Amino acid sequence: MAGQVDGKVVLVTGGASGIGRAAALAFVQEGATVVIADLDVQGGEATVCQLQEQHGKACFVRTDVSKAAEVEALVHEAVTRYGRLDCAFNSAGILGSRFAVADTTEEEWAQILGINLTGVWLCMKYEICQMLTQMHGAIVNASSVMGLVGSVRAAYTASKHGVVGLTKSAALAYAKAGIRVNAVCPGYIHSPMTEAAFSRNREQRELTIARHPVGRLGTPEEVAAAVVWLCSEAASFVTGHTLTVDGGYVAQ
Ligand code: NAD
Repeated sequence: MAGQVDGKVVLVTGGASGIGRAAALAFVQEGATVVIADLDVQGGEATVCQLQEQHGKACFVRTDVSKAAEVEALVHEAVTRYGRLDCAFNSAGILGSRFAVADTTEEEWAQILGINLTGVWLCMKYEICQMLTQMHGAIVNASSVMGLVGSVRAAYTASKHGVVGLTKSAALAYAKAGIRVNAVCPGYIHSPMTEAAFSRNREQRELTIARHPVGRLGTPEEVAAAVVWLCSEAASFVTGHTLTVDGGYVAQ
């Protein structure tokens, strides 16, 4: 039986860990060839090994998504290797500290916005330039429930709200060119990002679980399934959408 993204060439940023890695695996299992981009070389190469164990076609390109020249080179490398770019999942991101507005330093603001928002813009910019030459493509950006509702975590919340706005803007601009752009808004997912935060505060983990009506954290695989669907032909009329994968978090 054909996979949901059979024969597609897919770029996954942040593919060395967590949700990005699970998405890369899901894309391969559904028939795609995957280009992994990440700052973390060891993690990126480990993901490629995992994909190849599943008989997937994959490669890793070390990339800092906050640097325009590196993102441009990444897309160029993907197209040189595999001939085109059908889909992209822009998952690379950082959480940063829990600082509220008045405590956030300029340095931290610049770092979080630089990766989480400028990084998504740069990835879309070069992915879309390529997709325009093909007149088709599907992009999914990693936002968060914090892209839809407030949290004290100032820079992260602003960056993820920014991703939602940018997603809608791109969806409108390129709808007639056959390029769909959507975002996923995960609740708290059991991944290295959240585990690092919870390891500093175990009580916070229990409080966070209690804020999800389903009574547990999500898994990277649950987010990955939504991402693959948004990239597939089954979602051909879906664009500019923010899909929550959050165990009911924002329904409250
Ligand atoms: P993770 O920390 O496991 O993975 C993030 C990956 O991004 C890492 O491999 C890291 O090396 C990479 N990365 C960081 N900065 C980079 C840069 N400048 N260039 C390239 N790669 C870079 O995190 P995750 O849980 O898999 O999160 C993935 C995405 O989903 C993030 O955008 C995150 O904000 C979002 N998200 C996560 C959760 C959650 O609970 N885990 C919830 C909502 C949204």
